[in-house]
Amino acid sequence: MASQTNSTNVLDSALEQLEDVAALVDLHPDVLAKLKKPKRTLIVSIPTRMDDGSLEVFTGIRVQHNMDRGPCKGGIRYHPAVSIDEVIALAMWMTWKCAVVDIPYGGGKGGVICDPTDMSQTEIENLTRRFVTELVTIIGPEQDIPAPDVNTTETVMGWLMDTYSMQQGYSVPAVVTGKPICLGGSLGRAAATGRGIALVTRETLNTKGIPLEGATISLQGYGKVGGAFADIISEMGARVIAASDISGGLYDPDGLPISELSAHVRETGFIEGFQAGESIGNEELLTMECDVLVPAALENVLTAENAGDVRAKIIVEGANGPTTPAAHRIFTEGDVFVVPDILANAGGVTVSYFEWCQSLQKLFWTEEQVNQRLERVMVKAYHEVYERADELQTDMRNAAMALAVERVGEAILARGIYP
Ligand code: GLU
Repeated sequence: MASQTNSTNVLDSALEQLEDVAALVDLHPDVLAKLKKPKRTLIVSIPTRMDDGSLEVFTGIRVQHNMDRGPCKGGIRYHPAVSIDEVIALAMWMTWKCAVVDIPYGGGKGGVICDPTDMSQTEIENLTRRFVTELVTIIGPEQDIPAPDVNTTETVMGWLMDTYSMQQGYSVPAVVTGKPICLGGSLGRAAATGRGIALVTRETLNTKGIPLEGATISLQGYGKVGGAFADIISEMGARVIAASDISGGLYDPDGLPISELSAHVRETGFIEGFQAGESIGNEELLTMECDVLVPAALENVLTAENAGDVRAKIIVEGANGPTTPAAHRIFTEGDVFVVPDILANAGGVTVSYFEWCQSLQKLFWTEEQVNQRLERVMVKAYHEVYERADELQTDMRNAAMALAVERVGEAILARGIYP
């Protein structure tokens, strides 16, 4: 499991992907110049009262990459490896992600350099409320709508909604998504990213002529995203033969007992301590023979060093940025079919969009309606990208990027440069 992300590489990767696709689709130079830079980056200090009475000053970042198609949208992560470059790259990826699934948003992202596993709930609440207070002038339902990301929960989104609302003097549920249902959160949001990955996995297996029933899956990451994906893909009939998180990994060629494993993780927070199969290491999991490898943890886990050893037929990127450009080239040359993050994990932001619509309208949908609409969006986006790949004679990442930059570029050119 990646405990550390290489921030410089992540932004370099994002820019390299953009340059590659700009050349492929002959992108207008004004569009490329604009998209290479974020619209706005805000860095703030967050003085936080700790439980022992001391004051710790954390650093928080919010990047708004692009707003041409609508308000910025993207999560906030709490992690020791957060950096400005990383948050810029993640915000850029959000712009592409929203455009690939064609929802009316640009991309944003936030992060705080901290280790929440070492903090009490009160300390996390103090940090969150002060961070939101620092962001209050740049976020809002019409300009920038945060959401959960690595190590941020529904509870954190509830504090965000409350803090912003207290500053306005009335409740503003549409300022954030992924919030508790009792505050206007959407049914189906918690499992949406995992459900979207499962839907895209199903479509990919279908186009590759591999039966979903019994298809073998190797999964890295068993958090909000990986755990929900494991539940849904095994309900669909696939076999999760390997799974790991920061505490360790398990392997069973007949398929791990996913509902029991998920119940254990819900209760204890980790895979560790669950008795099933044999234990395996992270590299073993990534290079295991399987139909589909799903990296659903952090960035840069598939690199030039290990890509040549990957034996999966398909990679579905559950995390943001798990594959470096060098690894991606090895996969496409070696005939590994990669479904890129900006398509594969777009289910979360899609249901965030549904949540925002419900919060603005004060009219709520059933879980069935949410799941059906999510399926429609994901299946349509998958096939649009697949067809674009065929037209351009390129891989799925370039095709998804092409679709995204063309949509954003069209909006930029239609609006023009002001003044
Ligand atoms: N953090 C998630 C992502 O990377 C969700 C963002 C959102 O819902 O706005 O896609």
